[in-house]
Amino acid sequence: MTGELTLTGIVLSSMPVGDYDRRVSILTSEKGRISAFARNARRPMSSLRAISMPFTYGKFSMYASRDAYSVNACENPIYFDSLSSDIEKMYHAMYFCELLSYFTRENSEEREQVKLLFTALKALEKGNQTPAFIRRIFEIRCLANYGEAPNIFECSACMKKTDTKAWLFDIKQGTIKCETCAGLKNTAFRKDGTVLTIPETVRYAMHYCITAQYKSLFAFKLTPELENQFAATVEAVIKNHVDKPLKTLEILETLGYNQ
Ligand SMILES: [Zn+2]
Repeated sequence: MTGELTLTGIVLSSMPVGDYDRRVSILTSEKGRISAFARNARRPMSSLRAISMPFTYGKFSMYASRDAYSVNACENPIYFDSLSSDIEKMYHAMYFCELLSYFTRENSEEREQVKLLFTALKALEKGNQTPAFIRRIFEIRCLANYGEAPNIFECSACMKKTDTKAWLFDIKQGTIKCETCAGLKNTAFRKDGTVLTIPETVRYAMHYCITAQYKSLFAFKLTPELENQFAATVEAVIKNHVDKPLKTLEILETLGYNQ
């Protein structure tokens, strides 16, 4: 398809090319992740200067030629510029963008992932939860939007959504078993390779992350102990799905922000 079009999206990354241009990767609701040129965006007075930077959200007017998109303008841009003055928030935001680059493709509808990223950036700005906790909520919902969430809604053996204090969570299978079916004697959180014993609260937190509306997704808290268990569980789940080292994750680690 060639010609003018308008796409709603968020800039995931931006790099200089040539003398004055930028090449941006934008996650769009309508056409998935696309690569586009922002011509002359590095000239001082360019109207594309600000909108071609990472995290910019808005309605991008584009021109599509046979082999490339060019950005012409962005209507009602939101910049999330407070993130760049806080290293911890900024690198978490960059990690969210890199994770979405990993999970999204061109020419697929990505409305849910755009909504998720927008809401997560808002949550980082607000700061009601720590960036580390926002990250875990983001990761599990990102997988769910991708159609890869584990089945933590019922016991895989008795099919009951039974009232149980703890579950045996098989990360590789993506299934859980209730206390009775798993023969759990000890219900304390335990990690044994890719099999975890998780308390009901951690299961419910993941359930919430998968099903909540975006407006209330980043609106819950856990005790520090449960938050650690939740983080360790989501970490195991996401590691099972991402088999490529992510640059921003290494940076989070170097900066001491990776638990
Ligand atoms: Zn069962």
